[in-house]
Parts: sequence; C-alpha cells; structure tokens
Amino acid sequence: MEGLRDEEKDVLQYIERFAREEVKPLAREIDLKEEVPQKLIDRMKELGLFASYIPKEYGGYGMSFSFLVRAIEIISSACPSTALVLDGALTLFGEPVLMFGSEDLKKKYLKRVTEGEIGGLALTEPSAGSDAASIKTTAVKDGDNYVINGTKIFISNGRLAKFYVVDVMTDPSKGYKGISTFVVDADTPGFSISRDIHKMGIRGSSTVELLFENVKVPASNMVGKLNEGFKVVMETLDAGRIGIAAQALGIAQAAFSEAVEYTNQRKQFGQLLSSMEGVQFMISDMATDIEAARLLTYNAAKKWDMHEPCIKESSMAKLFASDVANRVATESLQLFGGYGYTVDLDAERHMRDAKITQIYEGTNQIQRVIIAREVIRELKS
Ligand SMILES: Cc1cc2nc3c(=O)[nH]c(=O)nc-3n(C[C@H](O)[C@H](O)[C@H](O)COP(=O)(O)OP(=O)(O)OC[C@H]3O[C@@H](n4cnc5c(N)ncnc54)[C@H](O)[C@@H]3O)c2cc1C
Repeated sequence: MEGLRDEEKDVLQYIERFAREEVKPLAREIDLKEEVPQKLIDRMKELGLFASYIPKEYGGYGMSFSFLVRAIEIISSACPSTALVLDGALTLFGEPVLMFGSEDLKKKYLKRVTEGEIGGLALTEPSAGSDAASIKTTAVKDGDNYVINGTKIFISNGRLAKFYVVDVMTDPSKGYKGISTFVVDADTPGFSISRDIHKMGIRGSSTVELLFENVKVPASNMVGKLNEGFKVVMETLDAGRIGIAAQALGIAQAAFSEAVEYTNQRKQFGQLLSSMEGVQFMISDMATDIEAARLLTYNAAKKWDMHEPCIKESSMAKLFASDVANRVATESLQLFGGYGYTVDLDAERHMRDAKITQIYEGTNQIQRVIIAREVIRELKS
C-alpha cells in the first residue's frame, strides 16, 4: 500500500470486504445471466467509488489514480465485469472529460459521474479497431451543433451508460488530424443500441453496438479542440490501459489464490499437491509473475498520478499483466486437474475472463508496437 494516503488505505479495506462478501458470491450468477445486478452498482455508489477519483472541485473525493487502480484490482479479483463498470465510468469517460473538457463540461458531467451515472468510450468501429485513426463516423457542423452519423462496435458499459465520449471524423481528408471528440447523451434522438454482443468472458459486462443516425450534439460538447480528438483518445487509453492491467492482476490473483488453496487440500500419491516439487515450481513462477505485474501496474499508476510521461509504462503494465493473467489462469486451472475443467469451479471462468485483457484498449500486439516506438524514441533523444 506504499504511496497511498491513510484515508485511501482505509477505504480499500472496505472495498476488500465489499468484494469478498458481496461481489464474489454473485460472480457466477453474473457470468451466467450476463448482467451486473443493479444492487452491486448501487453499493458501489454508496461506497463512493464513482466519486473516488473525481477531484473535489467537481464533487468527488479527489483520491489518487493509484487508489483507483487498487480498487479495480480488488473488485476484479471477485468479478472483473463488476470492476469494468467502475473502470469504464472513471478511466474511459471521466478521465478524458477531466483532462480535456471545458469547465462547463466538467461541471455538468463529472458531478453526474460522482453520483453514479455511468459513462463509456465509443471509439472502435467495424472497420477501425487497432487502426483507430481510420474511423468513419462523421460529425458535420450545423450552426451551433454537430450532426453525428456512423456505427461504433464493442462498446463497454453499453446498456448502463447515460453518456459516452465519442470519437468522430470532423475532417475526413486529414486522417487522424481530422478526429474530434464529443460527449453524447444516450437519450439524444437518433442514438440507439443496435445489438448486444455476447462474449466468452467478462460476460456480465454489457458490450453493444451503437448506431448514430443524425445525432445532434451541441458544439460545446466537444472534448478538447476541433480536429485534436486523437490526442484525447490516445491519452485516455494511456490511463485506461493501467486500469486493464489492474483488472488482469485481479483475475490472476483470484485464480492463483484459489489454486494454491486447493493444492494445500488435495492429496495424490499420499501427499499434498503443494508438497510436490513440480507443483511448487508452478506456484513459484505464478507468484513471481503476479508480483512483477503488480509492480509494473502500480509504477505506471504512480507516474500517472505525478503527471509524468507514462505511455511506455502503461503499455508495459497492460501487456505484461494481461499475459500473466492468461498464463496464471491456465496454470491454475491445470492444478485443479479435471475439476478445473468443469463449470463447478471458478477456474474456467478466470481463464475466460482473462482473455479479454490481451485484446481490449489496444491488443497486445499493438502494445508491443507502442513500447518499441517509445524505446526507440528514447534511444534517439
Ligand atoms: C469485450 C470488449 C469490450 C470492448 N470495449 C470497448 C469500448 O468500451 N470502447 C471501444 O471503443 N472499444 C472497445 N473494444 C474494442 C477493442 O478495443 C478492439 O476490439 C481492439 O482494439 C482490437 O480491434 P479489432 O477487434 O478491430 O481487431 P483488429 O484491429 O482487426 O486486429 C485483429 C488482429 O490483428 C492484429 N493486428 C492489428 N494491427 C496490427 C499491427 N500493426 N501489428 C501486429 N498485429 C496487428 C491484432 O493484434 C489482432 O490480433 C472492446 C472490445 C471487446 C471485445
């Protein structure tokens, strides 16, 4: 808990209890029903989690990003779909408004975030995923408004969100230099959810396709400057990736703890699994992986708190922690033998949940592209 304020440490204890006693018992049901129950979202509101990271001047508690990252990790260890509601609201919606929004936008929307109204980020399109600069959704100026047309896919917090940060082309002739970012209210005429997307993991998280048909938004809803939206997106994802690293860490920790506990109970050949050297080596490798992922993640969060450049650190944390989550989830399942392969235990869910962390907010191939670019740039400078 190094680097956290005393009050943040205290709150994390409440969050640990909330995760253990209220979230974890529902994780299987959340996976099966593909929905995070409203009562858990209400409890996160009551615990002040949505207000935690928002600065005091906008009605929040002004807690650090390092705090938020630990909260996401703890809740993810119980249920990563539940954690994603909070993560999406704060890192994908709150953070860009906070970093680039006008004072009016901050006053209007951040207050609502503190009250538990959920937001999301709509960047990805059917033909623009890793190549985010090739989005086709357009926004055309019409008096004091912009009119948005297009489709966004794989949008998290879809059914829950009251508003989104949406990336659009305001000047398609300029490529990424023609992208702008707007806040769009989900009740704006012409905005609709065209379908729900069903998934192998984080099944409780609502993922949707969004349709924009002549959606009129005030020009004052622009986040950042005209045609400078790509910067907004990229900086948002720098923070977002640390959140995903924390999510991955939570999944890895849960899978690992459950497996180690099992090896201390299960006997074969007359001895506990945990006493066998082959098993101990697996436990050692997993523990070391998790520790390394945790250090990378907390280091990136600390840099974000200190407003230090952390593109490389954020990508490294996301890349490593998500690979660790997948390795650890697979090896943990292995330690349960045949029982791990059944739906009677959580091991298979951890494996399914872990996979997404290598894909969203930039696939791990893209993280490698980013890390290499940063390393080479540093060497040249
Ligand atoms: C459950 C879920 C939730 C999501 N939530 C959101 C959200 O809230 N908001 C949002 O905007 N988006 C969201 N996404 C979208 C997500 O960020 C994209 O799916 C992801 O960035 C990859 O884009 P793509 O799916 O189009 O894959 P593609 O870009 O088509 O990639 C396909 C494959 O090619 C590889 N590849 C692509 N380019 C390169 C390259 N240059 N070098 C090497 N390999 C490369 C990729 O790594 C991948 O393996 C979500 C996705 C999922 C599945």
